[in-house]
Amino acid sequence: MNGYFITGTDTGVGKTNVTAALLRCFLDAGHNALAIKPIQTGCRKTVDGFIAEDVETYAQFTESYFPKGYPDACCRKFHPACSPHLAAQLVEEELDVEKLTYDIKQLSADKQLVLVEGAGGALVPLGQGETLLDLMERLALPVILVADNRLGVVNHALMTVKAIRERGLTLAGIVMTNTSPVQDDAYLRQNNIETIAEYGDVSILAEIPYFTREKRAISIIHHTKKIVAALEKKTTDDIDCVKAEVDFDQRYIWHPYTSALNPLPSVKVHGTRGTKIILEDGAELIDGMASWWCAIHGYGHPKLKSALRFQLGRMSHVMFGGLTHDPAIKLCRNLQKMTPDGLDHVFLADSGSVSVEVAIKMALQYMQADGQKKRTKLFTIRGGYHGDTSGAMSVCDPTGGMHHLFSSLLPQQIFASRPSCGFDDEFFPACLDEAREIISKHEAELAAIILEPIVQGAGGMYFYHPQYLSGLRALANEFGILLILDEIATGFGRTGKLFACEWSDVIPDIMCVGKALTGGTMTLAATLATHEVAATISRDGGVFMHGPTFMANPLACAVANASLEILQTTNWADLVNNIEGWLKEALTPCRRLSAVKDVRVLGAIGVVELNSTVDVEKLQSFFIKRGVWLRPFGKLIYTMPPYTMSHDEIKTLGTAIFDAISTNAHVEGN
Ligand SMILES: *Cc1c(COP(=O)(O)O)cnc(C)c1O
Repeated sequence: MNGYFITGTDTGVGKTNVTAALLRCFLDAGHNALAIKPIQTGCRKTVDGFIAEDVETYAQFTESYFPKGYPDACCRKFHPACSPHLAAQLVEEELDVEKLTYDIKQLSADKQLVLVEGAGGALVPLGQGETLLDLMERLALPVILVADNRLGVVNHALMTVKAIRERGLTLAGIVMTNTSPVQDDAYLRQNNIETIAEYGDVSILAEIPYFTREKRAISIIHHTKKIVAALEKKTTDDIDCVKAEVDFDQRYIWHPYTSALNPLPSVKVHGTRGTKIILEDGAELIDGMASWWCAIHGYGHPKLKSALRFQLGRMSHVMFGGLTHDPAIKLCRNLQKMTPDGLDHVFLADSGSVSVEVAIKMALQYMQADGQKKRTKLFTIRGGYHGDTSGAMSVCDPTGGMHHLFSSLLPQQIFASRPSCGFDDEFFPACLDEAREIISKHEAELAAIILEPIVQGAGGMYFYHPQYLSGLRALANEFGILLILDEIATGFGRTGKLFACEWSDVIPDIMCVGKALTGGTMTLAATLATHEVAATISRDGGVFMHGPTFMANPLACAVANASLEILQTTNWADLVNNIEGWLKEALTPCRRLSAVKDVRVLGAIGVVELNSTVDVEKLQSFFIKRGVWLRPFGKLIYTMPPYTMSHDEIKTLGTAIFDAISTNAHVEGN
């Protein structure tokens, strides 16, 4: 949808006249345009029903363009002359943003440009906690604010400007009206305009002088003409600018795991909402990736946003050396409480990879402090993924990972095969034999075992048997080495347990969390350790040697606290359990396709493994056309959606995957 949302600083500021005049000017400029009044209160009753007065004004201004009469461009009409939420309540009806949005889209289906006029100001309530501003956000049109130039306008205009911008909406500018015939304070009026422009950093599109009722159409249209010209120019400039930006991105910006010179395409995103990614052209994609496992509550959760705004108001950042603050203390207490018993000491790191480095350094310092100086190596299983920094890379899968590129840099770690018993298989104790053999052989040089509990993520989306993990815990105890669990992908409910180690009732000595920690808002991770680990490192005045610049960033901690609170106060386990059922239903049909090797589902993770490597670019464009966002890799098409995903959305994801494979959209070059 293309056009503008027109709101006012207050009711009775001349918004309808401005909307009608703008409509007329856009029509005069050759656009197929329509003005819509989603909600009209104070409607007159006639034999034909309610009459929406504002729509009558649009009709009067544009008569010649609608010879058969102006369309019924009002979605909801109410007789009581009061705020929409009350007007609806008085007649026992409800208003909701989703339904209004749908109706507005229906009305504007064949239009090039729409003007949507609000009701009163931006924070006018609609009921159920929603306001006009929510409708504005949902429509995502640039906003034109109409302000009546009188005493008090500066405050009203600046507050509205702030509210609009905090929603990420573009403010096209302000139209100043003069509804009072008293014009003897020209100096004050001029100063109002200058003050709003300066303090609000906003352009004043026009000032419309006072006019009498008889002259209003001619007078306002005269003044809005130049607005339309300015807005049109800005739109063309913006389109050129967007082209230039995409071109710059393609040429100079590194995207993950793709060529700098001939990169895979990157799709430009305008915004996000709930479970959807909204592209620059307005297309909406159901996000099956939750932004790489992170956005567990969906996008734009009001609690996450307000926590971040509050903290931003108070303090963005201070160094953590010698200083501390509430957001960090609250978060560490929270993590201590949520994670398995005994993980009492918390180190806040700036990303998952860094938290893995921290975990590895803790294990090595532990052995140093304990006088076991030869124990410097790590044992892990193949098919793992722990991040892209050096220490983390050294324990990633040695063939699927990047070892061959960095062999001179990376420490040589000790690997065993990927566990042969899958999550759903019957457990056979012999699957631990290899691990026992290798660990006992390298006993003297091993400091720790590191692995992802139950689900190996980016290394191949493989689920192994919980008893394998219990077996490794026992081996670590037997040989006096530490167990590090990387819960970065699996933590916070993803596998159906709050932490995946709970499938095995295993408590690690050191645990990493990240990804979903801030609900997908920003980067933050943590490494938790037992008192035994912390106390040993600190023995004889020892200190743990790590301290990132942005350690315990207050903004990240505040939003993490909000995310954990949402998790703790929603029935995440039911949500994940439902998604598990829906994913099984949606992905199982893929099993009968000959290109498919395996289909696996655990918690809110669904995986379709193919027999051959997929063409990512081709698949990606297939999925975008189907309105879904998935990012396959290797032989895997997989999803780990937000926990808020609906049954229908999971069905759409599943059908898109099935159709992609059955039409060979994954096969290169056909
Ligand atoms: C993503 C991931 C990491 C790395 O986290 P970053 O925040 O990308 O550095 C480490 N371990 C696992 C299991 C992961 O999934």
